[in-house]
Amino acid sequence: MTTVSRSSKPVDADALDGFDHETDVLVIGFGGAGACAAIEAAEAGAQVIAVEGASGPGGSTAQSGGEIYLGGGTPTQKACGFDDTADDMFAFLQAALGPHADETKLRAYCDGSLDHYHWLVDHGVEFRPTLWDSPTWMPLTEDGLMWLGENSHPFDEIATPAPRGHRPPMAAFAGMLLMERLVATATEAGTDVHTDTTATRLVLDGGRVVGVIARRFGDLVTYRARRGVVLTTGGFVDDEQMLAEHAPQLLGHGKVSDGRDDGSGIRMGAAVGGALRRMGTVQTALSLVPGLTARGIVVNALGQRFINEDTYPGLISEAGVHHQPNPIWMIIDEAGYEEVPEIDRMGMVPTFVDDDVAALEAATGIPPGGLAASLDTYNRFADELGTDPHFHKADRWVRPLRGPLAAIDTRLGFAGAEGVPPSESTGASGFTLGGLRTTLDGEVLDVDGEAIPGLYAAGRASAGIHGERYISGTSIGDGTFFGRRAGRAAARA
Ligand SMILES: Cc1cc2nc3c(=O)[nH]c(=O)nc-3n(C[C@H](O)[C@H](O)[C@H](O)COP(=O)(O)OP(=O)(O)OC[C@H]3O[C@@H](n4cnc5c(N)ncnc54)[C@H](O)[C@@H]3O)c2cc1C
Repeated sequence: MTTVSRSSKPVDADALDGFDHETDVLVIGFGGAGACAAIEAAEAGAQVIAVEGASGPGGSTAQSGGEIYLGGGTPTQKACGFDDTADDMFAFLQAALGPHADETKLRAYCDGSLDHYHWLVDHGVEFRPTLWDSPTWMPLTEDGLMWLGENSHPFDEIATPAPRGHRPPMAAFAGMLLMERLVATATEAGTDVHTDTTATRLVLDGGRVVGVIARRFGDLVTYRARRGVVLTTGGFVDDEQMLAEHAPQLLGHGKVSDGRDDGSGIRMGAAVGGALRRMGTVQTALSLVPGLTARGIVVNALGQRFINEDTYPGLISEAGVHHQPNPIWMIIDEAGYEEVPEIDRMGMVPTFVDDDVAALEAATGIPPGGLAASLDTYNRFADELGTDPHFHKADRWVRPLRGPLAAIDTRLGFAGAEGVPPSESTGASGFTLGGLRTTLDGEVLDVDGEAIPGLYAAGRASAGIHGERYISGTSIGDGTFFGRRAGRAAARA
């Protein structure tokens, strides 16, 4: 048995005594981006091997909600009564993912979205023509379409609102079904999948990436790629050192991942000169119940509102966790609480309930008068105008909050409803969005902006369309979209 160093430094092909396996295109990591790269490469006539560190394919994509951000007038949108254009999709994403969204990638992504929808459907992915018409993280239904903030302030004035969250027909976490279909298509197309095989270093031959060295149960396995290596290994939220260096705002929070987002692909790419981009951009999810937040208010540790509570909950989370004094509280009255079906409350129950706002302030630690002032203002405009002129929550959700009020501590988390005390949890979790700098075709660029021959990347191993923020569906969305392009380009090389 050979022991393998954990270094990401490349190995020279001359130093190897031949290769154990040889193929045209080598895909490293068989999650969403990897499966799409493999399908395109195989359909372009290339021989494809996918090397996967886990015992089966899927990655974080298989554990995800399976939401894919698609638009431009998809048949699912049309069946639900919505017209949409690539320009509206672009305008929304530019605002929601910005500032500093990658406009070149974003333009290509939006212009190609309708085609990507049809490609996914043609490759086995199903979207039911029904809409979940309420703010949510993910519907506990088989609805194929959902809103991701497009109909909330300020986006409803930036672009014509249309729901663009497309998802396979499975209650809650539909990523499993998505990956089942993509993996089946990739293997039918001829992809040879090598599981339990973790790539550790790239192999270089005269400046060109020609393969990888991998570890399988402690043994060293070598692969040669005649046309290209595609890194689709996911992000780096599971690597504390990389997190501390690049995205420390996620330190101490939970991890939205399959546990294998160790940044190994990013490190391997950087070790051969790949430039890094947007490494500080993260997704953040706080334990908010969107049905409750829309009907109530969300306040910071001072009792102050800071956003329209009917928007995409990830934006509330990002603003709350990273830009407000914490903890963050959901405040709701009995009528609003009861209106949300128990199953949609995701196990969260009131932390404190009181008729008296001052008593609620004392219980939550909000300074005296802080919550009272927010409630007075909110209720006055709700009573008199039925609107929310300060934060522009849609009128549909605005009514005065009366009677016994509940304060729900978001630090308790969804698991917290099962008894995790706040001191052990922040209630927030996230994943990383930055990675290797790539062209539209997934070629990895060096610090001079020149492509590194033979090396491609997609999904969270690369920097995608995101600027400083995230909207659900855009990770699997850009990973599958640019994964396809990387697979095609590698097959052509
Ligand atoms: C609970 C949850 C819900 C989510 N919901 C959504 C959602 O609804 N919509 C959305 O857009 N995003 C969602 N996300 C985020 C999204 O799933 C991921 O960001 C995205 O799927 C990443 O895709 P990927 O192909 O880049 O990586 P992955 O799907 O994670 O695939 C990477 C693969 O590479 C393998 N690998 C890693 N390193 C190596 C190595 N060195 N050698 C060999 N193999 C390696 C891993 O084992 C893994 O199988 C969610 C994530 C989670 C965890």
